[in-house]
Amino acid sequence: MNVGTKIPAVPLDAALAYAALGIKVFRVRRNKAPYANCPRCDKQSSIYIKHRPEECRCGVATCHGFWAATTNPELIHRWWTEEPDANVGAPCKLNGWAVLDVDPRNGGHTSLCALEQRVGVLPGTTMQITGGDGLHMLYLSPGFDLPGEPFPGIDFKHNGYILLAPSVHSSGYRYQWAGSGAFRKPDVAWPEALLPRKERRPPPAPRPATRNPFPSAPTKGRPGGGKMWSVEDLVQHVMDGREGNRNSTFFFAACRAHELAGQNLISLSEAESALLHAASAIGLTDSEARNSFDSAATRPGDRAWAA
Ligand SMILES: [Zn+2]
Ligand SMILES: [Zn+2]
Repeated sequence: MNVGTKIPAVPLDAALAYAALGIKVFRVRRNKAPYANCPRCDKQSSIYIKHRPEECRCGVATCHGFWAATTNPELIHRWWTEEPDANVGAPCKLNGWAVLDVDPRNGGHTSLCALEQRVGVLPGTTMQITGGDGLHMLYLSPGFDLPGEPFPGIDFKHNGYILLAPSVHSSGYRYQWAGSGAFRKPDVAWPEALLPRKERRPPPAPRPATRNPFPSAPTKGRPGGGKMWSVEDLVQHVMDGREGNRNSTFFFAACRAHELAGQNLISLSEAESALLHAASAIGLTDSEARNSFDSAATRPGDRAWAA
């Protein structure tokens, strides 16, 4: 079984570790300000030559932002020797990824819970806790473009890039891989339910007006591969939450617990007792945790989700 790769804490070593796994990386300044293009690639320059980034032949290894991403160890060495503290970026599409980006500051946890109540729990996959206490769920690219920000606080990243652990967020916190902290190369297909309507396979039957729109779909090892979340994963997620975001992290785990239990994938009472223990371990009071757990069972209105 693939237990993942421990990613070094030093950015240069981390970038080399990703590259060794075949992941294209590039250098991103801590403040995200892009590096200047060379004059032939700079649209403002008098000797600019019109071209698309993917067709660039200027030979300068840092032009065009994430299009410069590489697995070449020499170049990686050079970049991070020049700037040892630079963050590690990875373009999504160029690495064959599509990333579901959940930003709790803009209601992303609530959106994700509501989304999962509509389409079922998303397949478990490689996940990263962002330095801003958001969540990245890394899936394989479906091979075509996805809508940018379909729901409040949720972004489908495909054309853009993400930062990878151990990059530092503007909050000062580091990105880290969820669970054990080891990185597993994404190998789970982008969820069919999140594909643009025209790309979806026709549904097997009209949607019944029940709590679960796809009652027959989610069995263990569902199509598309990924393992489903276990109670342990949910507990780990709560324990990984940081001060300031503990409530929303707990609520998020509670929503998933209700959803998974609703599909008979876990036992609700087992999840409830494990999560309430975890909540107490991270400093939530019993009544806070209890209220939050119960309110996670309440289905938010579907109206906002009618796409
Ligand atoms: Zn150039
Ligand atoms: Zn160029």
